Amino acid sequence: MALSYSKRMENIKSSEIREILKVTQKPEIISFAGGLPAPELFPVKEIKEISGIVLDEMGPESLQYDITEGYPPLRQQISERMNKVLKTELTENNILIVCGSQQGLDFSGKVFLDENDVVLCESPTYLGAINAFKSYEPQFKEVPTDDFGMIPEELEKILKTTKNVKLIYAIPDFQNPTGKTWTLERREKFMKIIEKYEIPVVEDNPYGELRFDGEILPSLKSMDKKGLIIHLGTFSKTFCPGLRVGWIAASEDILEKYIFIKQSADLHTSSFSQRIISKMLENYDFDERVSRLKELYKGRRDLMIKTIAEEFPDGLKYTNPEGGLFTWVELPEKYNAREFLDECIKNNVAIVPGGSFFPNGGHENSFRLNYSNMPDEKIVEGIKRLSKVLKEYLN
Ligand code: PMP
Repeated sequence: MALSYSKRMENIKSSEIREILKVTQKPEIISFAGGLPAPELFPVKEIKEISGIVLDEMGPESLQYDITEGYPPLRQQISERMNKVLKTELTENNILIVCGSQQGLDFSGKVFLDENDVVLCESPTYLGAINAFKSYEPQFKEVPTDDFGMIPEELEKILKTTKNVKLIYAIPDFQNPTGKTWTLERREKFMKIIEKYEIPVVEDNPYGELRFDGEILPSLKSMDKKGLIIHLGTFSKTFCPGLRVGWIAASEDILEKYIFIKQSADLHTSSFSQRIISKMLENYDFDERVSRLKELYKGRRDLMIKTIAEEFPDGLKYTNPEGGLFTWVELPEKYNAREFLDECIKNNVAIVPGGSFFPNGGHENSFRLNYSNMPDEKIVEGIKRLSKVLKEYLN
């Protein structure tokens, strides 16, 4: 049957990472492909206990339809946490609870983008954001980046010469896919530029709490004098992704538009999940939990970087992230990471080729590695397998 799908579906295909993840489910494969948190630190025992408490204390309410904005005590807890850690000045009225920050990305496209509008992003950027925005048929312009983040002069050049820029998308902390973090100076310059041009910015911050070295830098939201920053947060990396609870922090005017969209998309985020997270924040020490995650991930990052330094062929560039879940490897330009993915799979190791993180294509000489999801011995063994493939491929 030849069905006539919407024009938008022409742009929409399955995420390459999700496809790779299907192959890498096999137990013999050591996968550095996904962005999965360490399951051994999921709060399984705590959630079992808290679920009982939620059902005892507010059983029917936790299973009932809820208000679209989200559970007020949780919104209050989130605003307080952001004010403490990210130096913002928010109240619960600035917070909308969503089903993971991925929903915040889709809603951002829906709120700001019409066909052929321009969205600016870092080059490279998060594949899930590219795919979310694609549904709204914009043009992507990639702003060049270096080791310190988006290059402000390049951003300004593009803004000066491009009509119809409706949105900027950025991940200033431990970026997915590169693991890079913007310096304070870059953040300040960036804010000056976007305030001059008055362009709204989605600041996506799923990894911000997971800083292993140095101090947390002020979020763009904390520098936001004109109400242009739409900050996306999530509990996926600090509790677990399966509950699907994230949030959007924005000015009340902008948030109202997102609330309208949320009403028609799915009415509200799971009443039960929201109350579980709220009770977890109330009854357990969140800082202690974050410390344990950081300790584990720091160890895994150190081990991956050390093994890469020992095993990889000479001449490859890779990032040494100060936090988050990923490192990014660049081969000399003439090579193509997609070409050796099959070889990797044959050798029971998986990576994500970097080309998918560039919305306008190219840059095939890079790949992303995740270190949060593998125990130590598999990190060492996986990097050894990958090095063998790389040495054969580069020869
Ligand atoms: N943004 C970025 C940069 C991510 O890496 C991810 C998760 N991989 C998300 C958003 C989505 O996270 P979630 O929907 O689970 O909050």
